[in-house]
Amino acid sequence: MSAKDYLEKDYYSILGVAKDADAATLKKKYRKLARELHPDTNKEKGAEDKFKAVSEAYDVLSDPKKRSEYDQLRTYGASNGGFGGGGFNPRGSQGQSGFNVNLEDVLGGFNLGDLFGGGGGRKQQRSRRGSDLETEVSISFNDCLDGTTLPLTLRGQTTCSNCKGSGAKPGTNPKKCSACNGSGQTMRNAGGFGFADTCSVCYGTGRIIEQKDSNCNGTGIVNETRTITARIPAGIKSNSKLRLKGKGEPGGSGGEPGDLIVNVIVKEDEIFQRDGDNVRISVPIRYDEAVFGAQIAVPVPSGTTVTLKIPSHTQNGRTFRVKNEGMTNTSGSKGDLLVKVEIAVPQNITGNAKDLLAEYAKEVTHDNPRAEIIALNARRKR
Ligand SMILES: [Zn+2]
Ligand SMILES: [Zn+2]
Repeated sequence: MSAKDYLEKDYYSILGVAKDADAATLKKKYRKLARELHPDTNKEKGAEDKFKAVSEAYDVLSDPKKRSEYDQLRTYGASNGGFGGGGFNPRGSQGQSGFNVNLEDVLGGFNLGDLFGGGGGRKQQRSRRGSDLETEVSISFNDCLDGTTLPLTLRGQTTCSNCKGSGAKPGTNPKKCSACNGSGQTMRNAGGFGFADTCSVCYGTGRIIEQKDSNCNGTGIVNETRTITARIPAGIKSNSKLRLKGKGEPGGSGGEPGDLIVNVIVKEDEIFQRDGDNVRISVPIRYDEAVFGAQIAVPVPSGTTVTLKIPSHTQNGRTFRVKNEGMTNTSGSKGDLLVKVEIAVPQNITGNAKDLLAEYAKEVTHDNPRAEIIALNARRKR
C-alpha cells in the first residue's frame, strides 16, 4: 500500500461501515464479506479483486496505528500538499497483494477448510468470550473515604435486550438446525474415514433463526450507550483497577461476556494527603503554642475536628498521631491521622504584641541558635 492508496481509497465504504465503526463492527463486516468473496468459493468475475480490496481495507482499519494514519491523511493529506513528514509511514504490509491479515484469526476459530467446505476434522467451538472493556474514573478524596457508587456511561456492543441475545423475534425461539441436528457439525465420509465439518447451514451455531429480531437484525448484539453503576469501595488506592465481572462486551454464540475494568483515579485533596491507610495533614501553630504547649483543633477527614494536645517545647515539624482518623482500608479497618505541626510566622505584627516581641528579643540576644553549627563548621578548616 502506498500513501496514494490511502488518499484514493475509501476503506470505510469498501467495508460498508461508518467512519466511527468500532473494532467488533469492522471484524463482523469483514468476516461476512470475506466469506462471500473468498476465491475458493466465489468464482464470479471480479470477486477476487473485491476480496483483495476488502482485505486491504480491513488490514488498515483493524490496526489502530494504521487507521489513525489513514484517517489523518484522508483528512489533512491533500490540503497539506503531501505527507512524508510527521512520521507518516503507510508501509508495514507484506506480500504482493500488499496486505497482511490473518484470516483465520479474523474468522475467530474457523479454519478456512471448515469455512469453505474443504478438509476439516477439527472440532470447532464457536462460543467465544466477550472482550474486556476498560474505562477510567476520577473520584474525590471524600468519595474515597466512604466509598461511592458511580454511574458509568459506556458505548459499545451489548446483548440485545429485546431478544435477550438469542437473535430471534421475541415470542419465537431459534430452531435446532436440522442439517447438523444442533451439533454445528456435519460428518463427511472420505475413503472410509469420517470427517467433521462445520455445518454450512447454521455456520456451526447449531441453531436456525427463522424470524429475526428486528432490533438487532438477528445478531443478538446491539451497539448502544449503556449506563452501569459501579460501587467503588472505601479506601481504594489511586490507579487501582476494579474488575466488574460480566460488564464488558457480550460473548458470541452463548459465550460469557467480558469484564469491565475500571481504572480508579483518586484526586488530590486540598488539605489531606494519603499515605497508605494513613492520612497526613500539615497544621500551622504559633510560636507561643510551640513553647508553652496548647490544645489545638485539628481537621479530620470526616469534616469535623479533634483536639490535639501539643506539649510544651514542641519543635517545628514534629508529627503527632491521631489514632483511627485515617483512611478506611478495603478490609474495613482504619488508618491514623498524622499531624505535622509547622510554626507559622505572622505576616503582620502590631501594637502591644509588637512591643512585647521587641522586648522579648532584647532578652534573648545572647542566645544564638546558630552557634552550634558555626562551631562545627569551623572544625572543617584546615
Ligand atoms: Zn435482538
Ligand atoms: Zn447446522
